[in-house]
Amino acid sequence: MNIDSIQDGVVLDHIKAGKSMKIDEIIRSRRRSLALEVTRDGRVVVRAPLHLSRARIDAFVERQQHWIAVHLEQQRRRAALALPAPTADDIAVLKARARDELPAKVDYYGKRMGLTPTGIKITSARTRYGSCSAKNALCFSCFVMDCPDAAIDLVVVHELAHIREKNHGPKFYALLGSVLPDYKERKKLLIMR
Ligand SMILES: [Zn+2]
Repeated sequence: MNIDSIQDGVVLDHIKAGKSMKIDEIIRSRRRSLALEVTRDGRVVVRAPLHLSRARIDAFVERQQHWIAVHLEQQRRRAALALPAPTADDIAVLKARARDELPAKVDYYGKRMGLTPTGIKITSARTRYGSCSAKNALCFSCFVMDCPDAAIDLVVVHELAHIREKNHGPKFYALLGSVLPDYKERKKLLIMR
């Protein structure tokens, strides 16, 4: 698996949202080549020669949209890490989102895996993203909603896999990998704020 395939789910979200295509600033100077930067505050800055046409700059940026999307996502994660501890209101919003979005994901992946949990519970646990009880009820921390979609899906599939495999042995990872072959890369997107 190469580095480019790592965050494809996330990258696709950016590209679909058109986020990677916008240029926030073009800095022209006596330079000869084009250069691209995603700043810490998530702005896309292009450095360009004085007289290069806007069409050439746009074409360059379009070719780099995957790179831009990956870097925008990295900056987003970095910014998320600097956030203060969530307030009660933040938690309420995350819980509402979790109740809204997670059952559909559990249903979708559960059907693909032929596994059905006995229930879904949303908590505000800070130490783990999810768990699966002995009776196969799944529990998810609302903070999983802070993560990119690719990581949320990983948590869902991880807990569903525990319905069949209660430990983290080779059979568990074989099952996880059969649904999400890039699970190791998705795990890197999990950040608890
Ligand atoms: Zn587990």
